[in-house]
Amino acid sequence: MNISTDISAASDSRELKPGQTRRKTFCRICTAFCGLEVITDGKQIDRILPDKDNTWNWRDFCLKGGSAHKVRDHAKRITRPMKRVGDRYVEVSYEQAIKEIAAHLNAIRARHGANAIATYNGNPGQSNGTGTAFMGGFLAGLGSTNNYHVGSVDQNSFNLNGEQMYGCEMTILVPDVDHAKCFLFLGLNPAVSYMGWLDTVADGWNRILAAQANGADLIVVDPRETPTTRKANTHVKIRPNEDWALLLGIIKVIFARGWENKEDCAAASNIDVLKKLAADADLENLANRCNVPVVQIEDIARRFATAPTGVCVARTGVSQSRNGMLGEWLSHALNLICGRTDRKGGRFYNPGIFKNTMKTLNSMAPKIERRSRIGNYRAIYGGYPLATLPDEITTPGEGQVRALIIHCGNPVVAGPDGARLDAALEKLELLISIDMFQRESHRHAHWLIPGCHFLEREEFLTILGSLFEKPHAQLGQAVIEPRDGLWPEWKFFRELALEMNIPFMGMKPLNTIIRMSKRVARLTGNPLHEFNPRWMWALLVKTSSSLKWKDLCNKPSGYIYGEKTYGNFRPQLQTPDGKINAAPAMFVEVLKKRLLEPLPQTDTIFPLRLVNQRRLSMMNSWLVESVKRKEIYGEFVEINPQDAAARGVSENQPVVVQSRVASVTAKARITDEVPPGVISMDHGWGSRMFDPVHGGAPEVQGVNRNSLVPADELDDLTGVPNLNGTSVNVRAA
Ligand code: SF4
Repeated sequence: MNISTDISAASDSRELKPGQTRRKTFCRICTAFCGLEVITDGKQIDRILPDKDNTWNWRDFCLKGGSAHKVRDHAKRITRPMKRVGDRYVEVSYEQAIKEIAAHLNAIRARHGANAIATYNGNPGQSNGTGTAFMGGFLAGLGSTNNYHVGSVDQNSFNLNGEQMYGCEMTILVPDVDHAKCFLFLGLNPAVSYMGWLDTVADGWNRILAAQANGADLIVVDPRETPTTRKANTHVKIRPNEDWALLLGIIKVIFARGWENKEDCAAASNIDVLKKLAADADLENLANRCNVPVVQIEDIARRFATAPTGVCVARTGVSQSRNGMLGEWLSHALNLICGRTDRKGGRFYNPGIFKNTMKTLNSMAPKIERRSRIGNYRAIYGGYPLATLPDEITTPGEGQVRALIIHCGNPVVAGPDGARLDAALEKLELLISIDMFQRESHRHAHWLIPGCHFLEREEFLTILGSLFEKPHAQLGQAVIEPRDGLWPEWKFFRELALEMNIPFMGMKPLNTIIRMSKRVARLTGNPLHEFNPRWMWALLVKTSSSLKWKDLCNKPSGYIYGEKTYGNFRPQLQTPDGKINAAPAMFVEVLKKRLLEPLPQTDTIFPLRLVNQRRLSMMNSWLVESVKRKEIYGEFVEINPQDAAARGVSENQPVVVQSRVASVTAKARITDEVPPGVISMDHGWGSRMFDPVHGGAPEVQGVNRNSLVPADELDDLTGVPNLNGTSVNVRAA
């Protein structure tokens, strides 16, 4: 593993101790990708600072990045492969683990076919580009199409919208926050998320506040009060799950008043379909669905459409719901009709490092139309919905999942109705977990394979260059050797493919090349001579971009290789007619269905809607064990005083939160930050962490609120569960 060169930037006033050096990389916990300066003696990390020289970021970071080394050095980290023997785990060598796992997987494949072997890619897995790419290479060699990923609990609508409107699942349009004069935000909390999800704006929140101080209008749509809504010019307290109705109402008003951008509308396809849908919808009906008065819908439409520039963004508050796909689509449609797509002050496109990034991404992962065995959901971004996995494991027939590899994920906690998945995982013939810890989802694992910390491995996310606001490139360096010589995930998948004798990446000659490269590396003593992710990155950069690989390797703080520009998007579109599709047929069909449904009623048994809130110290369930917090948010349920009084519930009282599939016990926090009829619980908590080396009782903090979410109440198109909008009730415990 390559380690970055020492840096002597004087960005930390404290003297280095003898043997310590400063090393540069970037954080890979969220898509803000903040630059980090790591002080290390090569064996341990003393502290992490923001990399003030980083050319991309905001010269700062958050608590999660600043304490990342505590995860790396955690006492319960798994650092050697462990095999389950009876009710305990024993450490074995990588060679033995690979040999035994390969033999078992080959036997399952011979008996039941390749699709009997599945993978799940979690959030840390998704931000591990090398692990994910090599896992894909392993699956391609195996011939299995059975992949599941965490995107199916949050990001699927983003990917499906990209494919349907623009022709590429990874279409990233970045909000131009410095030039926008009107922000319409639905279900996002940039005061906490720092404006990083997939489209990333460094220091985005402070720049939005600066734009607001300069006269920009900030409209935030969220059922509950958040640090972002507190700063808004208008906070729209929408009914959870019904953002689509608000957006359709806004679009209707804009078309009716003739406020649309005629030029951009004329250049798109199916504008007439969108226009008719909006015209046919009844504004009063839409207002009743989303619980936003007609007069307010008209006001938002006017402010957004008539502002000189503006940007509408919908994020996880919208996408993690039964109607997430409609909300995501209509937010893009709104930008389109108002002339905010690929415009200064709107959502624009950074073309990235390739001549045509969308085309290159499509060719790297050609879209094959396939559907899940259970539920008939289409594969999105290469994966089926996590919500269907329990039934895929327990339902007999061709393609029944018998073996599962969990790549850096905790699906029992991340997904809906975790108890069902937990029970299904126990029935697997073979469960392999690759992770730094043994978490809730790994308790039935037959094998625990160590996961590599991001500080211990290289990363080149610049392949998705359009993630960034500016043309920026950075080869993320490994700043310390992997603990106890553990392997990065990509190496595990490469070796497993070789041992199983399957063509890695679906290319048989590659196995021969890999074997030869290993021999060369042994002879030269240089591990970089072994086939590794650098080979692919270098090839891509050299053949498809104007960048120089040497520059990337020599600039540990990254570099900006161009100016921020607009107008690059439409020439790159990959739709069949080369136009933006304003109203893809599959979205229209679901929208028509929704419009025919009766107005949302209050459920008599479960009258409250459960929503979520993001916190600065949390990132899903994967930092629960490492980050110091003032309080454990996962212990609480926030409830409006009116709802609390109706149930005789007082502050801090233990209460039972019940849905139709599960119940959990939490402490009541009574606050008018949530409106009547809505309760809020933070997700990511309630995951047990085991200690497979020393044994003992598992550690747990807070409760898993996602266990309340039914696995059969999914977005029709994306299979995303109703994480923001589950019907529940609360009673005193
Ligand atoms: S987790 Fe924090 S430090 Fe890491 S990239 Fe995100 S905002 Fe930056």
